[in-house]
Amino acid sequence: MRHILSYTRQELKAKLTELGLKPFRTKQLWDWVHVRGVVDFDLMDNLPKRERLILAENFSSFLPTITAEQHASDGVIKWLFKMEDGHEVESVFIPEATRGTLCISSQVGCTLTCRFCHTGTQGLSRNLSTEEIVLQVWMARSRIDDWQGRDKPRKISNIVFMGMGEPLYNKDNVFTSCHIFMDEHGMGYGSRKITISTSGVVPEIPAIGEELGVNLAISIHASNNETRTKIMPINNKYDLGQLIESVKAFRLKETRKITWEYIMLDGINDSEEDAKALVKLLDGIPSMVNLIPFNPWPGSPYKPSTTENITKFYKKLQRLGMIAVIRKTRGEDILAACGQLRSETSKRNTVSLEFPTVVDVYGTEAQKQRIKVEITGAEA
Ligand code: SF4
Repeated sequence: MRHILSYTRQELKAKLTELGLKPFRTKQLWDWVHVRGVVDFDLMDNLPKRERLILAENFSSFLPTITAEQHASDGVIKWLFKMEDGHEVESVFIPEATRGTLCISSQVGCTLTCRFCHTGTQGLSRNLSTEEIVLQVWMARSRIDDWQGRDKPRKISNIVFMGMGEPLYNKDNVFTSCHIFMDEHGMGYGSRKITISTSGVVPEIPAIGEELGVNLAISIHASNNETRTKIMPINNKYDLGQLIESVKAFRLKETRKITWEYIMLDGINDSEEDAKALVKLLDGIPSMVNLIPFNPWPGSPYKPSTTENITKFYKKLQRLGMIAVIRKTRGEDILAACGQLRSETSKRNTVSLEFPTVVDVYGTEAQKQRIKVEITGAEA
């Protein structure tokens, strides 16, 4: 039985017609699920009882169990959502003064083994389904009480595919979930509010612009093939020359820029010469370079660049006319920062956690559905 959150609105309309329900029920059902945040058919009180039963018999409305919810001292929240088959998926909420970003995963684990990345050490278990991707946003919005209606400011204003996995190795499910996020009658996230970050799966990059029009971020992390191959094995398959060509073919929306993620590794990629080579490489592409201080994890093979070197690198980029920012490290104390996501249950006690005192579900009675919270493997 397909999950209610796996349907696009058009697919849902076709399914309801097949079940003998009137087409206008699509709008009501879509509103319950994607605007009010309710998937329990029993609670949908503007639908006749008989039709609610039909829905319950024909759609899954499974909700993952929250096996951990960690609050960092800077407001970042990390969740582990246990899916139906027991696999755990991580999502991270990063609140800022004027917006809130939810970082979501596209795979359980990852095949790509980038050497600076904690997730890359665990291998790939499987791709996430469409509903498992949508569920991360749905669950996070429920947990932080973010179902205020379509026209009100929302706590989760931006969605980024920067969690576990390479989104373009799960392209169909990632693209369908983006269509669901962007549906104007549902969650209504604009294309500017969604970012897909890839390590450089060259053949699929143009489709992000052509089929979705969302923001593109590329993990580049080096300005020459030799260094990039050392730290990102995918460079053996798609090298920097091919990557730059595919980005040039990407249909960029007006006024937007490609974001280039660049992790600062001590003595590896952080010299002023590297900065100069990067600017040369990106010549002619509307770009913004995001310098990411490396967050070491137990056993990581690299050290973070010094603040002095990061500053020198940043200033060199600026002098050469490149727009650059140094990303503020968030959620460090719960290993929620970039490249640190890892869902291995056994590792949970190795970091200092600050668990919420209230573990029941936020929101109105109607929203208190079947969300289960099982904080396990950590001190409460
Ligand atoms: S950085 Fe991204 S693509 Fe590379 S191993 Fe980690 S999760 Fe995979």
